Amino acid sequence: MRSVYPSALAVLVLALLCDLSQAQDAVPARIPVTLTPEEFRFFACAGRPGEEGEHVRAFFLLQKAGTPGRVEFPGVDLTTDQPDDWTSSKGQVADGELQVTVTFRPQAVRTSTATLKIQVDYPLGGGRVTETITLALEGRGVVCGPATPPAGGGDPPPAGGTPPDGAPGGGATPASGPADIELCLKFHLVDGPPPRPTDADFDAWVDEVNRTFAGSGVRFKRSPPTRNVPSAPETGEPELAEEDPHCLDVYIVDDIPGPTLGDGDVLNPESEEWRAMLRELGIDPDSPLGKNMGYGRRCRVEIGRNSGRTLAHELGHILGLGAGPDPIHRDPETGDDIEDGERLMHGTPQGTKLTDKEKQIARRLARWIEDHRSPCGGSQQRVPSPRNEQLDPRGDLRFASLLALDRELVFTAFLEAPFDLAATSPALSLELDTDLDGAADHFVSSQFADNQWLTEQEPPAELRAPVPAPEALFEIHLPAPVPDRRAGALQLRVPREFLPQSYGPLGWRLALSQRALGTDDAVPAQGFSTLDITTPALAITLDGNLRQLRVAPNSPLTLSGSLITTPTLDGQIDFSARILSDQGLLQLPLGTLDKPAPDIWSFAATLPADLAPASTFLSVIARCSRCQRVTSDVAALELVDDSGGGLPLLLLLLSLVALAGLVLLLSRRKRTPAAT
Ligand SMILES: [Zn+2]
Repeated sequence: MRSVYPSALAVLVLALLCDLSQAQDAVPARIPVTLTPEEFRFFACAGRPGEEGEHVRAFFLLQKAGTPGRVEFPGVDLTTDQPDDWTSSKGQVADGELQVTVTFRPQAVRTSTATLKIQVDYPLGGGRVTETITLALEGRGVVCGPATPPAGGGDPPPAGGTPPDGAPGGGATPASGPADIELCLKFHLVDGPPPRPTDADFDAWVDEVNRTFAGSGVRFKRSPPTRNVPSAPETGEPELAEEDPHCLDVYIVDDIPGPTLGDGDVLNPESEEWRAMLRELGIDPDSPLGKNMGYGRRCRVEIGRNSGRTLAHELGHILGLGAGPDPIHRDPETGDDIEDGERLMHGTPQGTKLTDKEKQIARRLARWIEDHRSPCGGSQQRVPSPRNEQLDPRGDLRFASLLALDRELVFTAFLEAPFDLAATSPALSLELDTDLDGAADHFVSSQFADNQWLTEQEPPAELRAPVPAPEALFEIHLPAPVPDRRAGALQLRVPREFLPQSYGPLGWRLALSQRALGTDDAVPAQGFSTLDITTPALAITLDGNLRQLRVAPNSPLTLSGSLITTPTLDGQIDFSARILSDQGLLQLPLGTLDKPAPDIWSFAATLPADLAPASTFLSVIARCSRCQRVTSDVAALELVDDSGGGLPLLLLLLSLVALAGLVLLLSRRKRTPAAT
């Protein structure tokens, strides 16, 4: 403790000197916006294959309160001497706000600079002026110590940095390895006579599922279950429950008619992205296996002795296992019906074994589900259609959903009964109420005729981004697949650029008419559903007085700062610190914020005892556990030698000398105006 006072004084002196050396703020006072964080240094690991790191920082510009009229941000431009190392992206968060995310990913051990220019258009007098804010960024690509052996047990982020948000799983899909994909299960327990399954039962089932999928790289956890879900008396078919956009939905029912113990809905997309993923798995998309391969989000399991095993089997189907033309319990390599009763994907009864190929497929499809879900919560909405009592369900919508992804909005109409596209000539129309005045102002309308979609949009494609044609999802009801692969859902992917603004609440309505059947249906039946489509954002800032840290090994350190999030972000935020030292990149867990909300955070940590003195960096990393969104901030770190009593005295002397210099400097400055 004896060294604290001089060290603190030294930091104070340094901070004062830094303040003096900065000629002006990053944003001139006349421009009515604030900028956070005012920190322009980046650092990340480089130089070792597979250890490329990155440093991502989101800058927020916010219109100052009291500005008469709205501030706009017409342009953002990043120039750099190392274009391979820097990228930036712009996203508007709300009126008068701008978020610019800068990613520094050094391709070599080198220091590079970048210039970020942000145009600000603001009201002044009776008119408007446009000015440019120029931020000078510096990035250091540094060597990151000896490679650390892969840690067992937990799953710390890789030493070289974190993958970018929403990045696909990449080409390599090992058949086994540590579980790095976690899928969440949401149990919906249908109302029925006691005894009902308890939380302990759910836990036991999840344990059994995890034992079965061990070595696949996929793990399952569960979120709190919903209970007392009503069901239709005749069929036992559950009503649609409140589903969790982050989870796979598992309906637990008393009885499924017939001998089956479980079933699931599998969507069988036809997009190029899906076909490319199949090829990556060594599966020809046009082969019988490829054509019948699909993924699911929902299954049903009967309450019984083997519910955990049945659940594992249905999750196998959801992850693409057993796929093939009827019968649907096939081996993905031979294409033959599985006859070995010890294998999980055997028809009935099921065992527990998965082949390496099955593990590889399950892992890749789990990644696909991860990549195609709501990124950070709050941005998915499912609207059920009123139950139609007609005998003929053809042409009726079961429900419609809106999934707000980073770059596009995915609207899906799910049909009560699969139908043949060519025979029914469906027309899908989307109405959007972007200003929430109760009237539609943006339209997309697609008609299927002559074996192709004809799509019209308002505003037209010349003025706004073109909306691609809808895609039919071919739904297979398990365990009895639909033989002719009729469409079970229609999906429209609307680029955010089609909308006048890509944030805030949006009213939407999907309608389907099938001329050949003479049917019309819409969800919602009247008016619009509303969803906040703001792209979830997360940013942290270290407190300004922590930019220059001077700490001895084995001494306590308190880190604090602020957190900025959008309301659509969901999930707990895990904080950790990384220190670049002579022993490589050290990871220090700091703590967790349960609810992401704009807040102040403060965590204490103790530095390891055996660090050598060095001038290095400390970065604080905040990660949303649910969507893996990552943000970080960085400070310069001076690791000092704590041994020997002479050092504190030396520091005190140095500080006094610096203080004297400062006083001298200040007094000289005061005289300067008189001299000119
Ligand atoms: Zn099955």
